[in-house]
Amino acid sequence: MNILVINCGSSSLKYQLIDMKTEEALATGLVERIGIEGSILTQKANGEKYIVEEAMKDHQDAIKLVLAALVDKDHGVIKSMDEIEAVGHRVVHGGEKYAASVVIDEDVMKQLEECAKLAPLHNPPNIIGINACKALMPNTPMVGVFDTAFHQTMPEKAYLYALPYELYKDHHIRKYGFHGTSHKYVSMKAAEAMGKDIKELKIVNCHLGNGASVSAVKNGESVDTSMGFTPLQGLVMGTRTGDMDPAVVTYLIKELGYSASEVDDILNKKSGVLGVSGVSSDFRDVEDAAWNKKEHRSNIALDMFVYRVKQYIGSYAAIMGGVDAIVFTAGVGENSVEMRESILEGFDFLGVDFDKDKNKVRGKFAEITKEGSKVKAFVIPTNEELMIAKDTLALV
Ligand code: ADP
Repeated sequence: MNILVINCGSSSLKYQLIDMKTEEALATGLVERIGIEGSILTQKANGEKYIVEEAMKDHQDAIKLVLAALVDKDHGVIKSMDEIEAVGHRVVHGGEKYAASVVIDEDVMKQLEECAKLAPLHNPPNIIGINACKALMPNTPMVGVFDTAFHQTMPEKAYLYALPYELYKDHHIRKYGFHGTSHKYVSMKAAEAMGKDIKELKIVNCHLGNGASVSAVKNGESVDTSMGFTPLQGLVMGTRTGDMDPAVVTYLIKELGYSASEVDDILNKKSGVLGVSGVSSDFRDVEDAAWNKKEHRSNIALDMFVYRVKQYIGSYAAIMGGVDAIVFTAGVGENSVEMRESILEGFDFLGVDFDKDKNKVRGKFAEITKEGSKVKAFVIPTNEELMIAKDTLALV
């Protein structure tokens, strides 16, 4: 039984065809520059790379080429589209409506359009992707898996903003949280690694990629997370500010003459480690500038990033009344030995007995605290695609 997992961005699309018997990806691929000159599809399967450079005017064209690549006589992994049992779609925002994945029908599509108002940058491409798939595979069941769903267990005191209550009631302004699929996956893996029931554990997950968030998972449920109404709140990210005084926004508009959309652009695309360092949004470039070229702004950008992650770990330990495990995942979390070391430095007061040598790993599972450490720390590569495929399989 094969499940196709689709993750649609505005001009890109990531996909995986997963064999659910082995839970291994038969093929993984990335389509870039959809609707822009120079469209390109790169598929990895059977240990080889297959590249298709062909104009794609929209997502439907892109998905047509994805399906063609999957069934390609020489480079494909299946004989016909019938071998795709179902499609799982990553959907960024499910609003308050979805606390779990759902089979997509007309009703769900309407709700997703509603949620698009809450996530204008993220949901529209997801919807376009679903429609494109439906047009090309009308008889294949489709499932929506939401980034927000796992965090729907947060209590009111965590998800409400201290705004006039009507703004929540009438306009749904609240914290939703994102990266839920990843937070759920790595907390399950952490419990497995500890040989304990997740219902007995307090876990802090640090999903540190270009977009980054921390979550507090108590007894298997998300009780708080650092991202908010949108993925802008919380940590210092590749290009996003994360937490700051909201009065900066009105100051930029009223005193400095920026328009609302310019402010949006600054906060989402020109801030974070990119904005502070002036070098790059890519942590590898900023680490290089900070450590090898000794550039102050890059150093301070990394310090700010680490400082904020520490703040969240401490605060989540406080709200959960302790912590049993701290998990690192995503690009930076899985790969940056130095960032993990800096983040965990000084957490011995909490019971973290950090192991410098065990921490020297990149991109694979590792326990990075010493034997007997009261609080355990792990590197756990995330696998959102597998999680989406599992939910899809369960529903179809
Ligand atoms: P997203 O899915 O949010 O785009 P990823 O989880 O793919 O992000 O993470 C991308 C980030 O991970 C990039 O900023 C990249 O620099 C960083 N990264 C990848 N490998 C390393 C490494 N070896 N050391 C430090 N950072 C790394």
